[in-house]
Amino acid sequence: MKKVGIFGGSFNPIHTGHIALAKSLCEKAGLDEVWFMVSPQNPFKQAATDLLDDSLRFELVEKALKGESQLKACNYEFHLPKPSYTWHTLQALSKDYPDIDFTLLIGGDNWAAFDKWFHHDDILAHYPIVVYPRQGASIGAVPQGVTIVETPLLNISSTQIRQAILQGESIHGMVPEAIEDLACRYYEMRSEK
Ligand code: ATP
Repeated sequence: MKKVGIFGGSFNPIHTGHIALAKSLCEKAGLDEVWFMVSPQNPFKQAATDLLDDSLRFELVEKALKGESQLKACNYEFHLPKPSYTWHTLQALSKDYPDIDFTLLIGGDNWAAFDKWFHHDDILAHYPIVVYPRQGASIGAVPQGVTIVETPLLNISSTQIRQAILQGESIHGMVPEAIEDLACRYYEMRSEK
């Protein structure tokens, strides 16, 4: 069966840290593909003022991953009832793609709060989980079904990129070149709203 890792995030915007991480996870966790699951804006939460619209964040992910044969942009959660809980997303994916084995990819920071996630026991019982290190988060012992994979820690964040754009600084090297200009345009437009 094809093995696909689900890598969720707001990707506001996607950056080279996300891509390097996904490539490393793909190789080290023996996955055929990693799907970048772009989280839609949660209608029950106040939108962060600098959160770009769902479709624009997805467009940037798609363009950034062009040419990366194992990495795919995914807007699957846009069409699910909101808010999108990982447990519901994984169940819907398994139903729609019966020939794929899904693995959940999460950072050490999210793993630390995993026991607060909706239906976390069910997720653990039904899906393999791969945890990757995050700065400042110690992972500790993990239960069966959870694997820790050592991946490089790249010091780059979406927050840093949004700030750089708004200060008129270059984001060269922080995002793939294919989306550099477009990302600048979208976040500049967003700040003018
Ligand atoms: P923000 O700065 O807006 O909080 P972010 O860069 O952390 O955003 P997310 O969209 O939340 O980006 O990223 C999805 C996941 O990617 C996060 O849960 C985090 O675990 C992981 N991630 C983000 N940046 C890096 C990085 N530089 N190296 C490794 N993993 C990262």
